[in-house]
Amino acid sequence: MRIGTKLIHSEGSIDKNTGALSTPIYQASTFHQFDIDNFGKYDYSRSGNPTRDVLENLIAELEGGDGGFAFASGMAAICSVLSIFSAGDHIVICGDVYGGTYRAVTKLFSRFNIQHTFVDASNLEEIRDAIKENTKGLYLETPSNPLLKITDIKDAVKVAKAKDIIVIVDNTFMSPLLQRPIELGADIVVHSATKFIGGHSDVISGLVVTKNKELSSEIRQIQNTFGAVLGPQDCWLLIRGLKTLKVRVLECQKNAEILAKWLQDRPEVEKVYYPGLEGHPGRESHLAQSYGGGAVLSFKFKSLEKTKHFLNNVENVGVAVSLGGVETIVSYPVKMSHAAIPREEREKLGVTDTLIRVSAGLEDIEDLIESFEKAIN
Ligand SMILES: *Cc1c(COP(=O)(O)O)cnc(C)c1O
Repeated sequence: MRIGTKLIHSEGSIDKNTGALSTPIYQASTFHQFDIDNFGKYDYSRSGNPTRDVLENLIAELEGGDGGFAFASGMAAICSVLSIFSAGDHIVICGDVYGGTYRAVTKLFSRFNIQHTFVDASNLEEIRDAIKENTKGLYLETPSNPLLKITDIKDAVKVAKAKDIIVIVDNTFMSPLLQRPIELGADIVVHSATKFIGGHSDVISGLVVTKNKELSSEIRQIQNTFGAVLGPQDCWLLIRGLKTLKVRVLECQKNAEILAKWLQDRPEVEKVYYPGLEGHPGRESHLAQSYGGGAVLSFKFKSLEKTKHFLNNVENVGVAVSLGGVETIVSYPVKMSHAAIPREEREKLGVTDTLIRVSAGLEDIEDLIESFEKAIN
């Protein structure tokens, strides 16, 4: 089965008891045991829930992994994954990582002596140089946020595997439709399912997929111990969101491409960052490991004045934190996703106060361009 079909006809997509074409929401915390010597498949919903099972099996299948795990947020998923490391371990992590992950690594896991080095992960040499005796993990986002930097996943995996290092990829920006890191050699994939997988700006959620039985059993244990599981109603929203992932992401991607090219030709715009654009650094690697430039782009205005004017005047889009919704979402990284990163660090990464990120939605592109044009002028 191809991925567009898998999204809709997953195992459990038809309810075995009733034939319902929509997965039942098992709003139950606990399950009666009919035989005290042989417990049924479910006993308590932190450990397992039938609605969550359908979602977890589906995401595992979509990413081509062994196990899937649903969490209460992307950050709960990421922090649960980082909990596989122990005191004294070291991880190499991309410098322009999601702000919440930056906070988790620098403020939370550092307290448990899990050490880290930030690198420009688009540069293989920097990754290689940062690896130490105690390095146990390599954490990547590609394309990265918000400058859409590209890491060649296969190359990075080669460097990591030579040292037995676990490769974790945050695949939020691409979704399993456009990029499947496990197929490229990664060990663990994480998602903020709040974004493209949910797709309607109505649910906070996270997903993890593991490559093999050993990692699955480790993550399952952490999920059950830490307990940041996703509730059955929210699992159902993600199952529904996934059914339209293909049409949504492909259409959003088309709009992003047109918008990126249009912005590039504007005299007020200094630079456009989009992996689908000719000349974007790492474009070749990106297109070899994925199915298109994605639906997220960033751009810089030439002046702060124009930047603020645009943000305060752009109509028919959301000006908000987040991405991956049906609506176009314009965000301002220095005050939103990257506010947790100190100014100096931020500017070194190129996240300046003239930078705007756009997650293209499903609106008619002519209207989007009209909105942007009006807000620029
Ligand atoms: C939003 C986001 C997260 C965090 O996910 P939440 O669902 O908000 O907790 C992590 N990584 C990336 C790339 C994101 O965009």
